[in-house]
Amino acid sequence: MTVLKTKEELKIYYKDFNSKNHTIGFVATMGALHEGHISLIEESKKENEITIASIFVNPTQFDKKEDLDNYPKTIEEDLHLLEKAKCDAVFIPSVEEVYKNNIASSHFDFDGLENEMEGEFRIGHFNGVGTVVKALFEIVMPTNAYFGEKDFQQLQIVRKMVKKNKMDVSVIGCPIYREENGLAMSSRNMRLTLEERKAAAIVYKVLKSVTQKSKSQSVITISAWVTTQFKDHPLFDLEYFKIADVDTLKSVSEILPNKQYRAFIAIYTNSVRLIDNLSINSELLFG
Ligand code: AMP
Repeated sequence: MTVLKTKEELKIYYKDFNSKNHTIGFVATMGALHEGHISLIEESKKENEITIASIFVNPTQFDKKEDLDNYPKTIEEDLHLLEKAKCDAVFIPSVEEVYKNNIASSHFDFDGLENEMEGEFRIGHFNGVGTVVKALFEIVMPTNAYFGEKDFQQLQIVRKMVKKNKMDVSVIGCPIYREENGLAMSSRNMRLTLEERKAAAIVYKVLKSVTQKSKSQSVITISAWVTTQFKDHPLFDLEYFKIADVDTLKSVSEILPNKQYRAFIAIYTNSVRLIDNLSINSELLFG
């Protein structure tokens, strides 16, 4: 696997490959890699001649400095995992390489997608995401880019950005990879205690029950039920729960046939926030 640290090195790498004749699959990550990330690499490998991952902890998408400072860094293990997955190259730029001297977000209009859920609780987050994904797309110039449904709002926002800016890249959503107990894999899980990690299985359990309940109960009844599951919970607080239309990400009060919806949830412990979501009107067990 080739390790690339600068745009210049990437250019030379592409020259060697004569990339015009190759499809390039791209997986953008912030490192602290786990099997969820690797499932994206595997998807890319199936569909492209070259697969490139990036590892870059993007400073502009963190609304809290302590969250940025505490973001796990496991570069040696990351390189080992990527190598094992037969990823062709990994781009690991410095902050200066991506932002030059101006570590700031551009302002984006994502037609309101940015104001829902994570946007409401993490101010400026999606401007940071838009800025870095746009910059990485311009540098890596992928044919296909793979994003996890784990961050479903981010996936829809990246799709919107590509469409609005007429960028020449296909954005492909990949299913959420889960631990055996159903907990969605996340780099942040490393910061949970063993007890919290076990108990966090409640998130997927609740989401699965929501999909069942959605067949016969109203959205308002389901939402009230979810609230009771976290009321007085010894470890977790509920930040938000909602059932939303997948295209607008706006809450709905009614589930209509022939439309796609997802249930979205965010919970937090003392120091870690966890997010998850599940399609509520697909018959698939793992969404
Ligand atoms: P991150 O390193 O957290 O920025 O994630 C990089 C990419 O991996 C994003 O597209 C995430 O949505 C995706 N990802 C993270 N966790 C998972 C997971 N458990 N299953 C599938 N994709 C994931």
